[in-house]
Amino acid sequence: MKLILLGPPGAGKGTQAKRLQESYSIIQLSTGDMLRAEVDSGSALGAQAKEVMESGELVSDELIIKMISSRIDKDDCKAGFILDGFPRTTPQAEALDVMFDEKGLKLDCVIEMQVDDEAMVERITGRYTCSACGRGYHDSFKKPDVEGVCNKCGGTEFSRRADDNAETVRSRLQAYNEQTAPIISYYGNKGILKSIDGMAAIDDVTKQMKDLIG
Ligand code: AMP
Repeated sequence: MKLILLGPPGAGKGTQAKRLQESYSIIQLSTGDMLRAEVDSGSALGAQAKEVMESGELVSDELIIKMISSRIDKDDCKAGFILDGFPRTTPQAEALDVMFDEKGLKLDCVIEMQVDDEAMVERITGRYTCSACGRGYHDSFKKPDVEGVCNKCGGTEFSRRADDNAETVRSRLQAYNEQTAPIISYYGNKGILKSIDGMAAIDDVTKQMKDLIG
């Protein structure tokens, strides 16, 4: 199964992709996570992407398309994958079509998570993760049971993404509305677009997705 999750930053694509990954044994491919790993590793690609990411803008289509094309070829993608954060522009969506044709793959479904932009600023600026295990928390919505201690691994170090501040979030939302939102109708015209209410509780969003996927 090959899926795309579409939605603005903060919609919950990553959270839901991780849940679908476990339920369907398909792998989450997050271009944001891949880029952050490149930045952390100090690679040339990471150095190229770092500044753009911190400004809330989009890195070049060419770089992203190459990165995702070679990632899809890896063995762990054979059983299927969930694209989280890609495509984000019309040229990326068109390149993905060409890529799928060339690789003999078929896109099963595109799920659009409908959310309210203003709520996204609060969701994103409050989020942080355990540095040891990656478990996600939120200042208002999901604190650890014991303050300062990760529920999952007991870790006491937490980190926030460099681009999760209010100013950058506004740029990211603007980039989404200007450059990514147009691909909703691109997939609508192909007849493979499904929409769900992304403002519902996390478990309910997962259920809506599973009902769609079957
Ligand atoms: P995300 O983790 O999906 O919120 O992505 C974080 C940042 O990585 C974005 O704000 C962009 O700067 C960059 N990025 C991730 N995916 C893409 C993409 N498909 N196209 C361009 N830039 C991307």
